[in-house]
Amino acid sequence: MFRLGKASRNWIGSFIALTGICVGMAVQAMPTTESPEQMLQRATSIKTSDHDEFLRILAQLHPIADSLPLDEQWSLRYLEAWQAVFEGNESRAMSALRDIAEHANNPALRLRAMATMVDTFGFNHRYEEAFIQLNRLTELLPKVADKGARYAAMGEAAQFLIAMHQYGQAINYADQMLDNAPPGKNACHAARYRLQALFQSNNPQLTQAQFDQGIDRCTKDNDSLFANAVRSDLAGFYLRKGQGADAIRLLQDHYAEVQSYNYPMLMQYFNVLLAQAYFSQGDLHRARNYAMSTIVADHGGAFSEPLRRAYELLYEIEAQLGHAREALAFHEKYMQVDKGYLSDVTAGALAYETIKQQVQAQKSQVDSLNRQNQILQLQRQLDRKAMETSRLYIALLLTVLASIAIWLLRTKRSQLRFKRLATRDGLTDISSRQHFVDQSELVLRHAAKATRSACLVLLDLDHFKQVNDTHGHVIGDLVLKRAVAACLHHLDGRDVFGRLGGEEFAILMPDCSPSAALERAERLRQAVAAVPLWGETRHVLITASLGIASTDRSGFELRQLMIDADNALYRAKRDGRNRVVYGDDGDHLLPKAPLPDPLLRRTSAELQTRSESAC
Ligand code: GH3
Ligand code: MG
Ligand code: MG
Repeated sequence: MFRLGKASRNWIGSFIALTGICVGMAVQAMPTTESPEQMLQRATSIKTSDHDEFLRILAQLHPIADSLPLDEQWSLRYLEAWQAVFEGNESRAMSALRDIAEHANNPALRLRAMATMVDTFGFNHRYEEAFIQLNRLTELLPKVADKGARYAAMGEAAQFLIAMHQYGQAINYADQMLDNAPPGKNACHAARYRLQALFQSNNPQLTQAQFDQGIDRCTKDNDSLFANAVRSDLAGFYLRKGQGADAIRLLQDHYAEVQSYNYPMLMQYFNVLLAQAYFSQGDLHRARNYAMSTIVADHGGAFSEPLRRAYELLYEIEAQLGHAREALAFHEKYMQVDKGYLSDVTAGALAYETIKQQVQAQKSQVDSLNRQNQILQLQRQLDRKAMETSRLYIALLLTVLASIAIWLLRTKRSQLRFKRLATRDGLTDISSRQHFVDQSELVLRHAAKATRSACLVLLDLDHFKQVNDTHGHVIGDLVLKRAVAACLHHLDGRDVFGRLGGEEFAILMPDCSPSAALERAERLRQAVAAVPLWGETRHVLITASLGIASTDRSGFELRQLMIDADNALYRAKRDGRNRVVYGDDGDHLLPKAPLPDPLLRRTSAELQTRSESAC
């Protein structure tokens, strides 16, 4: 019904001038020295109350604009754009406002630029563009901390939404404004927009008390223009309730005040409301006068709500008075204005729906992009997890492989140890009995194939039990080791040397004739007899008896060779020990004459060093 600044091309000038009158007491004295920043702040605060001074500040700042800090440059640009709108140069203002709305650092300044655009586009009936800016403004609002900028922007939004008949949203903004009024303000504008939206949407809960509160707020804020704007809606409220006399009293009480504003828009409303009120009281004459004043006070716009109602009323008045021609003329005018008014309302509604759908489409696009983004992020997370899992698997695999390798190594070592234990004699480190048997059978098979002689020598230490009994087992072990070491000196790499058990040893000599075996066995016997003994063993004297069997007589079977060699050994023992016997027919070599003990020990001591290094 009533929208400030909507119907006149000069509304901004008029409204601002009036606002200036209302808040004129806020004009600040000009300081003697001011920084550009202070000048910009002052210009912002006086742009309506002291427009001439405002222009002087702009003129002072404009030449030095490039030297100002960036934020101040943007502020100056906004004030210059505001001035361009003020002058009606909207095309110039719009490009600057767009630039500020998109690129200024200060979000409060961006918000102000958007709000100015909403208002200017709305005023110029460019509703789609106005709604687009309104959406941006709505998105930016939560990011702006400046209370003044927020309050002003929400006011512009509410005002535009009322003009677009979107009362619910307008009330939301008005409520937010009421809750967040700048310090020291009584939220007069918020109350006015709220009442306007409630009144225009025919809200049944609207009461006179609410209007009184709104007028009270505006009075406290020294805003008589807005107080009278509220009164115009209150008058409409009276008319709706059939209280024409109350409406007349209210409007007449403030008529002169509204006239003093020189603000055509509000004046038009006061006039048309008075016309309607007098008409309701049957005072056709006064009704006609006020309706005509509405038309006269028209600012030249193609259509407006008061104009439409004034023509309609004049048509009804003339019809009642029986002035058919005049009635018809006013009816035609009414139809024209009504058509323009309705098409404007339709254009507004259409723009609202179009932008709403665009916003929804964008929102669903954004939602779908967000979903895609979420899917991509999930995919990335999955990939990361998969990579971590494969790394884990690789680490696990390597650990398992390392464990297997260690296990194999240990097993191999154990096998080798067991093999060694199985093939070697623990005390003397020569072949064990079994290993000796295996090796010897192998050698004998080769010898058999090659029909080459081989001899088996059995060596048994004499009276060894006495050594143990006299000197103990530890000494006995030592003696065994030294006897073996002495023998090894006289064996070559091809001989198979093994310990058959206890103090009994066997040597298989491949490629060896019986006579050669006899000679070598004799050297072994002498070596044993000359075993170097010292320390605790220095008093021990050892000798060995040896029995020989040859493949020439016994064949290539180890078993038979063993039996025959054992028999020869038995004979050596029986014949007095410390001798070599070949076969069972008495071939044997007698020992050389035993050396006296001291000499034996000395010789042993001499040999000690050599044997130690050889063993
Ligand atoms: P003979 O001249 O008739 O061969 O008499 P002997 O005492 O050497 O023979 P006998 O078979 O009566 O005794 C062999 C002794 O060898 C019995 C045992 O105490 C000793 N003996 C067997 N194996 C070991 C060993 O590994 N270490 C030590 N210290 N003594 C052993
Ligand atoms: Mg013996
Ligand atoms: Mg024996």
